[in-house]
Order: sequence, then structure tokens, then C-alpha cells
Amino acid sequence: MFNVILFGAPGSGKGTQSQKIVEKFQLKHISTGDLLRSEIATGTALGKEAKQFMDNGVLVPDVVVIGMIGKLIENNKEAKGFLFDGFPRTVAQAEALDKLLKLSDAEIDVVIALEVSEEELVTRLLGRGKTSGRSDDADETIIRSRIEEYRKKTEAVADYYKKFNKVKSIEGEGSVDEIFEKLSAIVEQYI
Ligand code: ADP
Repeated sequence: MFNVILFGAPGSGKGTQSQKIVEKFQLKHISTGDLLRSEIATGTALGKEAKQFMDNGVLVPDVVVIGMIGKLIENNKEAKGFLFDGFPRTVAQAEALDKLLKLSDAEIDVVIALEVSEEELVTRLLGRGKTSGRSDDADETIIRSRIEEYRKKTEAVADYYKKFNKVKSIEGEGSVDEIFEKLSAIVEQYI
């Protein structure tokens, strides 16, 4: 099994690149943002709880997200590998993920971090907000609060994996294809 985390701030391009990578390498895409939005769309209890946090640009509690991922890994044991997008976002989530993968005798092979400047992030997210219908992209205050959550809680996840020498960073500014080439080259070293 090959497992990769695509790491980066909100707006760093994780979603776009994830779709291309999972298609090319036949991995199972796990995006907690998409999963949570789909829980909200179907009106589940989990979705109702998560919505209050997401609308304010703060992280959904670890227990909620970890429970959701646990079920998914359990139900996809035959997958060739997973690409995690937007997860783990806290050190507690990273530790829980390590434990969940261990149950299948697997581990995270590599964390690829997309580096993008803060001003570029805000510009991209405001641009996306005009067409995506995502209310958390339409308001600059909420965008700044998501970036702050990233700095306060999520950046530590990269430090956690650096201890195990698993982090590779790439420049996340440039064309979608240029970034995809760089990402693919890293994945190919492992597959
Ligand atoms: P982005 O990375 O552009 O902010 P996502 O779709 O990944 O977009 O996430 C949207 C929101 O969903 C986040 O602001 C957060 O509230 C919630 N969320 C997504 N993934 C997680 C996670 N792993 N832990 C906690 N909250 C999460």
C-alpha cells in the first residue's frame, strides 16, 4: 500500500492536484472537506455539527473527523493506497491516522507540502468564492481565520512528519501542470 498526504494551507491547490494524482496513480482520494460538505448536504447529525465550525472558518473537532476517517479506511482495505487531502489537520489527527493505518499494516509513506504565499492564498480563495458557492470562500474575515487555524494548529503536522523524515516541499505557485509534474515525480519515487 502507498499512502500520501497532500499538505498545504487553504487555497494551496490541494484539491485540484489531488484529483489529478489519484487519477494518474489509481489511489483512493480522501478529502475531509468534501466528506464534511457531503454530510452537510445530506443533512446528517454529523453534518449539522460540523457546519457551525466550518461556517466560522475554524476546525471541526478531532473526534468528529477521526471517526469519519476510521470508517473510510476500514471500508477500503482493498485500496491500492490513499491520498489524504485536508487531513490530518492537527497533531492529534496525525497520531490517530498512524494508529488506524497500522491496523492494516500500513503507514504514511510521504507528505508533500505545497508552499504558497499568504497573499496568493487569499486572492485564490476570494476568486474561488465567486463561483464555488462555498460561503467560507466568500468572506475575507473567514478566509483569514482559516489561514490562522492553519498556522496555529496544522503547521505542526508538518513538523510531526519531519521527525520521521517524511516531508517533501514543493513550490505551489506556477501553472497547474508544472506543479502536477513536480508532484508526480515525487510520487513515482515511491510507487
Ligand atoms: P480548505 O483547505 O480550502 O479550507 P477544505 O474543504 O479542506 O478547504 O475544508 C473546509 C473546512 O472544513 C475547514 O475550514 C474546516 O472547518 C473543515 N475541515 C476540513 N477538514 C478538516 C479536518 N481534517 N479537521 C477539522 N476540520 C476540517
